[in-house]
This record gives sequence, C-alpha cells and structure tokens, in this order.
Amino acid sequence: MSFEDNIRKVIPYVPGEQPVGKVIKLNTNENPYPPSPKVIQALKEYDVDELRKYPDIYGGELRDELAEVYKVDKDEVFVGVGSDDVLSVAFLTFFNGTKPILFPDITYSFYDVWADLYRIPYKTISLNDDFRIDKEDYITDNGGIVIPNPNAPTGALKSVEDLEYIISNNPDSVVIIDEAYIDFGGRSVLPLIRKYDNLLVVQTFSKSRCMAGVRIGMAFGDKKLIKYMNDVKFSINSYTMNRLTVAAGAAMLKDEEYFKETCKKVIDTRERVKKELKELGFDFPDSSSNFIFATHKTLAAKDIFEAAKKKDIYVRWWNKPRIDNYLRISIGTDEEMDSFIDFLRGYINGDI
Ligand SMILES: *Cc1c(COP(=O)(O)O)cnc(C)c1O
Repeated sequence: MSFEDNIRKVIPYVPGEQPVGKVIKLNTNENPYPPSPKVIQALKEYDVDELRKYPDIYGGELRDELAEVYKVDKDEVFVGVGSDDVLSVAFLTFFNGTKPILFPDITYSFYDVWADLYRIPYKTISLNDDFRIDKEDYITDNGGIVIPNPNAPTGALKSVEDLEYIISNNPDSVVIIDEAYIDFGGRSVLPLIRKYDNLLVVQTFSKSRCMAGVRIGMAFGDKKLIKYMNDVKFSINSYTMNRLTVAAGAAMLKDEEYFKETCKKVIDTRERVKKELKELGFDFPDSSSNFIFATHKTLAAKDIFEAAKKKDIYVRWWNKPRIDNYLRISIGTDEEMDSFIDFLRGYINGDI
C-alpha cells in the first residue's frame, strides 16, 4: 500500500494549442472579433476599491442581465467560470446514479473526462455515417443525456423538434443541451425550460460573445435544477465569479447590437468559406457553428494540418478513429480565411 493507491488518477482534457506570437489561429473556435467597446469602457471605469470585497455568489449583475436578455427568472440562471465549469457542476449534480449517461461517440471531448473524473458510468452513441445524431438512439434506459447542439466538432445542427422528442421521452433523466455554438445560426431550446423540468440549457461567452479569455458560461433550467447546481457549487467554492468578470460580462450583454453584428459577420464568412472549400475538393457536414469540419477527397488531413502549421496557420486535427482524416477549421476574419484558402490552393497545387 502506498499513497499512490489513494490518488484520483485522471486523463485530463487536452485543449487546442495557444501558440505565442503572431499566427493565424483557427484551432480553438474563438471569435476573431474583440468584445464590445462597452466592455472596454466598463473595465476602464471599474471602481477598483470594490475588489476588496468578496463577489456575489450568484454572479450579481451578470445574472441580472442574463435573466433580462434571455427573458427568464434569475433563479432559472446559473453562472459559471466558462461553460466547462457549468457542465462540470452539472455532471456532478445530476449524474449521480448507476445507469449510464449517454452522449455521442463523436462530440466535445470533455464529456468523457468529467464522467471518468466523477465516476459516472457512460455509454457513447454512434453518430450515423453522415455524422448525424439519430434521435431514436436516445430513447433507451439511461442515467442522463448530454447533447451539444450544434454538435462539436461536426458543426451539425439538430432541430428543436428532434431535441424536444429526446427531452420529452426521457422525463426521468436530466437532459443537458450544450449550446456553445447556437448563436451561429441555430434555434435554441431555451423556451422549453418552462415546459420540461428535466432540461438544462448550457451556453457560453467564449464563442459568439467574443470573450473566451474572460471565462463566463451559463445554464438555464427549471429553478429546482438551478438550485441543486448552486448547492453543489457552494459546496466546492462559492466565489468563482470574480467582480471584474461580472462587470465585463454584464457590459457585453448591454450591447446586443454588437453581438448580433459580429455573429452575422462570422456566419457570412463561414458561408463564403464553405463554397471555397467545396471548390478545393473538401467535403463536410453542413455547419451551423463557427467552424467547419472538413475532409479532402484525396489529401490526408494530418498532412494538411502539419503543412499549415509550418506556415503559422493553426487548425485542429485529432488522431482519433472515424475523424482522423478531418480538420476542424475555426472561422476567423475574412483576411485570415483568405490566407488559409491561399495556403490550401498552394498546397493542393503542390507549390508548398
Ligand atoms: C467551447 C465549448 C465549451 C466550453 O467553452 P467555455 O470556454 O468553457 O465556455 C463547451 N462545450 C462545447 C461543445 C464547446 O465547444
């Protein structure tokens, strides 16, 4: 017997690289645009004396603004340090049974990490050959369900109707819909939280709200679900949302116009890039997110990934079954995407 036997050993999640220096960064689905000028102003004007005091444990003004913008009650909102924090608390809170929880085999690669960390039994459900989720696969005995919509890294969107079918047929499980990318063209299931008390909708400021570096995530759900989550959170660390984050997040929510504008810019760029990738011989599930999951008819994804990196263009590639011939390409600015397309053209023509 040694202390080694008592250690909780885990295989951690591996995020995409954050290279230093000037590179074209299309590898972690960040927004290429800065936060609203209102955020800059709020931080400039922030009364630093406030930082002496502990923050509000519920997220204060940030939660108030979220309730207002998303037209829900405050006690239907949970705020966390990025949606990774929100999802982690949700897994710990809701998946405490012996039946396996279900999520797709090709999905956000953090889900199995939390399941392992918290000793939650799980079963992955294969996407079909088109990388689509089949709703019937989720009508089976389970201890909970997690579905990202749009899915990551495929970018494929499910309809609200299909998701409602899964939610309504699983009244004895909490169903988490991870809507990290919903603002890039999808329709949210948020209005269903009043109809189904087993539904938790998770969103983030990291993608559509241009603030991955600030770390804000939120969940919406029946107030009983939110209370259970807060009980767990307050049993670990009540003060995760610091005052500067709260101020920055609340300011961002006061500029819905800017938010809609930047989302539209990303969507327009994505649609243009889809056409160009098709012309270059790429194929991909139709994306409703801020990335495209593309495979080339003849060229190996790994080779493109490595050649791009040599040119300081970072995209994401996973050495995993079923997806190892795909690249996940985040949507950057128009100029960044032009550089990437130019690189691809050169690579395909054999110039690189
Ligand atoms: C990016 C992402 C998240 C987490 O983002 P945070 O930065 O922690 O808010 C959660 N789910 C999916 C599917 C994501 O792609």
